[in-house]
Amino acid sequence: CVFAAGLAKSASGQPTQIVLVFRDETNVKRAEQSRADFVANSSHELRSPLSAIIGFIETLLGPASEDDEARIRFLTLMQGEAYRMARLVDDLMSLSRVEINEHIPPRVVVDMAALVDEAACTLAPRAEKKQMTMEVDCQPALPCVVGDPDQLTQVVHNLVDNAVKYGRPQTRIRILARSIDRLPGTNQPGVSIAVADEGEGIPSIHLPRLTERFYRVDEGRSRRLGGTGLGLAIVKHIVNRHRGRLTIESVLGRGSTFTIFLPAVKQQAPEPATETGTD
Ligand code: ADP
Repeated sequence: CVFAAGLAKSASGQPTQIVLVFRDETNVKRAEQSRADFVANSSHELRSPLSAIIGFIETLLGPASEDDEARIRFLTLMQGEAYRMARLVDDLMSLSRVEINEHIPPRVVVDMAALVDEAACTLAPRAEKKQMTMEVDCQPALPCVVGDPDQLTQVVHNLVDNAVKYGRPQTRIRILARSIDRLPGTNQPGVSIAVADEGEGIPSIHLPRLTERFYRVDEGRSRRLGGTGLGLAIVKHIVNRHRGRLTIESVLGRGSTFTIFLPAVKQQAPEPATETGTD
């Protein structure tokens, strides 16, 4: 669009030059559109559990007011919808925090092996419910990463959580942590963390869009499994903040592997403290 226009005149007042300044507003418009879409999507995602809760309350106050069995059933459904809203609000807050901090480099030296173990332990009970086995394979003396420990925990947690959600029952989830000489596209050494499941896989047409906010391959399935559609968007923003990369590979019918690559620091994880006798 034309941003400014000016006319240069000679001493006699005759126009000699026209100056037009153009500014490309495509990116500004795109950012505005993306913000508007996000607000619309968030409102829609929050409105649907809220509408369900309102409907249940109206039924409980009206036709089902004397029905004990219906009361328990509706209260249980309301609880599920309220939990869904709570998960969504938590994820929206995480995403907003990550976006605010995205340009501030993180500073803490993080032991990724310990962090991976912790995330796997936290999610092991959920995997057990689906009779899945979780294998953690961390290369010894894995280099550390300079990062934000809470955010990196959230990255590994979200990827393993998806592997549990979308993996088939009685299958295996593997978490592999490796030291790598060069991060893809750089000369810098790094660490890779791969989370592989044996789920149904993801059709390749969806792969480039998976990290968009609220993008789901199968909306109904994601909702049934308690998804918010924000997990991978949060992962992408945190990985960007750490100057890392996320890759997604998937084979239909076989499973998916989500790998994060993070720049490493020379310092290794601290050795576990050894007790020295004092008596
Ligand atoms: P959700 O809360 O819906 O799981 P995510 O942002 O974590 O949202 O993931 C976006 C979508 O990517 C999911 O809805 C699902 O369709 C797909 N997806 C993510 N991880 C996996 C996986 N391990 N296997 C198959 N599909 C996956």
